[in-house]
Amino acid sequence: MSRVAIIGAGFAGLTAAYDLARAGHSVTVFEAAPQVGGLAAGFRGAGWDWSLEKFYHHIFQSDRDILELVTQVGAEDLLFFTKAVSGMWDAKQGWYELGGIVPLLTFPLLPLQDRLRQAFVGAWMKGLKVLNRWQHLEQVTTEQYLQRTMGKRVYETVWKPVLEGKFGPYASEINAAWFWARIVSRTFKLGYFRGGFQAFADRVAAAVRNQGATIKLNAPVQRLEPQADGGWHVLTADSVEAFDQVLSTTSPSLLRRMTPELPASYTAKLESLKSLGAVVLTVALDRSLTNGMYWMNMNKERFPFLALVEHTQMIDKRHYNGQHLVYLGDYLEPSHEYFQLTPEQLLERFLPALTLVNKDFDRSWIQGYWLHRETYAQPVVPVNHSRSIPPLATPLPGLWWASMSQVYPWDRGTNFAVEIGRRVAQEMLKQPQMAPAHALTPS
Ligand SMILES: Cc1cc2nc3c(=O)[nH]c(=O)nc-3n(C[C@H](O)[C@H](O)[C@H](O)COP(=O)(O)OP(=O)(O)OC[C@H]3O[C@@H](n4cnc5c(N)ncnc54)[C@H](O)[C@@H]3O)c2cc1C
Repeated sequence: MSRVAIIGAGFAGLTAAYDLARAGHSVTVFEAAPQVGGLAAGFRGAGWDWSLEKFYHHIFQSDRDILELVTQVGAEDLLFFTKAVSGMWDAKQGWYELGGIVPLLTFPLLPLQDRLRQAFVGAWMKGLKVLNRWQHLEQVTTEQYLQRTMGKRVYETVWKPVLEGKFGPYASEINAAWFWARIVSRTFKLGYFRGGFQAFADRVAAAVRNQGATIKLNAPVQRLEPQADGGWHVLTADSVEAFDQVLSTTSPSLLRRMTPELPASYTAKLESLKSLGAVVLTVALDRSLTNGMYWMNMNKERFPFLALVEHTQMIDKRHYNGQHLVYLGDYLEPSHEYFQLTPEQLLERFLPALTLVNKDFDRSWIQGYWLHRETYAQPVVPVNHSRSIPPLATPLPGLWWASMSQVYPWDRGTNFAVEIGRRVAQEMLKQPQMAPAHALTPS
């Protein structure tokens, strides 16, 4: 039996902990936050029955790995699927639905031949998935690929705003494999958990503890120290604990800071991985803002945020004391001023834009607001990104790293956090000293 430390109780860390503990190892998870769940963790307003994610979340019907975990930890009672309307905002004409075959084929901002071309390229991409022939797409940018295949007009109207909003200054660098993965991994039906993603994360944490593992909350790790005997010391503000193996699920920069012993060639790789942070202001209103739209990609030239997500167009407002919950979110460099502004200052920046969405909007509708920020939230994937991804085993024996930056070509998501958590556990178990004492069976 090996002693394993896992840094981070997001879905990657929890899943790895579950598999390693089931294989008979002594697992301790260190989590800096007071709750498990990581980027998918939730909070609760006064009188709410369900938690709400700090950052808007849903899953897709095609999210195989997380669905498997749901079954494994016996959380089928929490999961349900629903439909919600997604679209985009056009500066001149307001919002348009985009999610679904009919909305795409009747999209009024493009002529019929462009709509058909877009649908054909979408179908072609699904075909590439069946053939597992996506790899060449990473050699070109999404911009080049879409202009060539869907045409300049489709790119400029539909996809350029999405790329610019999501990746800001990196928009024209993003490779076409990222776009492919986004198109083929999404379904129109959306999944959610009764009680929110927090309820599901808590259920997974309970299953992890049931397997004998320990989860330490409010325990930010400061240092991972390699020992002469091949083991590791994990240091927090008030403890030093010895382990045989360590798995970090944190950002590349934090891994680097925690482990200065990593060789320069490896830290150079970590430094080359680009990412953006996320800033999301959640507003509780006494009535609906959009009257029907769940998700809108906004036009960044006119709006001070990228995404407007009215969560209660997907989930019934009765779970939140009748409040209508609207996220106003953006992906930004951590140096952006939105990371410094107070919640009140950011609200003032965002409020005028809400009148563009609904001309009747009045600040008296607001019943509460919350601001959440995270500096490592969205990896940036340039051309030939696969060559830059560090392997799960670091060059230091016994130190592993599994993060959002490595789930490529998939865009980061809870499903892929589960997948990489499971993959790293399997890799760790391949070492002779960690071979499972008994075969893993579905529990
Ligand atoms: C705005 C936004 C919207 C999103 N929407 C969706 C969505 O709709 N659907 C979806 O599936 N996914 C979505 N995601 C992505 C999803 O949340 C992540 O991909 C997933 O949660 C990542 O899990 P992880 O375990 O890899 O990392 P994380 O969740 O980041 O977990 C890492 C953990 O490490 C902890 N940690 C950090 N430093 C330390 C330290 N020093 N010591 C101990 N612990 C530490 C953190 O507190 C955290 O809990 C969204 C993300 C964002 C930002």
